Amino acid sequence: MVTSLSVNLRDIPPEGMHVACAIGVGDLQLAEKDPRIKDVLTLTADVHANDADWQVEGELHGLLVHECVRCLEAFDMPVAISFRALYRDLEQRGAQGREIGHGEGESNLEAVDYYPTVMHRIEFHDVLREHIILSAPMQPICSESCQGLCQMCGQNLNAKACECEEVKAKLPFAILQDVLKPSRNSLAS
Ligand SMILES: [Zn+2]
Ligand SMILES: [Zn+2]
Repeated sequence: MVTSLSVNLRDIPPEGMHVACAIGVGDLQLAEKDPRIKDVLTLTADVHANDADWQVEGELHGLLVHECVRCLEAFDMPVAISFRALYRDLEQRGAQGREIGHGEGESNLEAVDYYPTVMHRIEFHDVLREHIILSAPMQPICSESCQGLCQMCGQNLNAKACECEEVKAKLPFAILQDVLKPSRNSLAS
């Protein structure tokens, strides 16, 4: 069993290898706009050597911190990600740079990503970072009933109501009355 995010290919026995690892906030170099790891995520994975590549099947569990698009407050969301990835030794094949494609020839139609091995090691970082980013909702909201921010004064309406709504509700009626009054007067005279 391995407890790190990096596995030396030489250490993978024919029967495969189990990986269990805690991933901290700084381990994956997530960007500012990406979800943040709350405390630690737990990774469990199995690594198997095939004829020409290495297969990783794993799960990621824990809490991610998102920012609500309505009220802009940070909130925690549980995450449970299952992933599968294939690694290839692109250095040995003389290929340059990083190349991720979708695998073919699998028995099922599930898309599989190819990742390059780095210095004869399997690195989990890229796979995990990509799956965390993909797991994030396009429009994260802290709760279906989130009231958001007041567009006039910026008050977080989940915390307390502001007085803008009252003013806004009164406004059109007050204007209408002002418009109608003189015309009604002119009609009467
Ligand atoms: Zn919210
Ligand atoms: Zn307001």
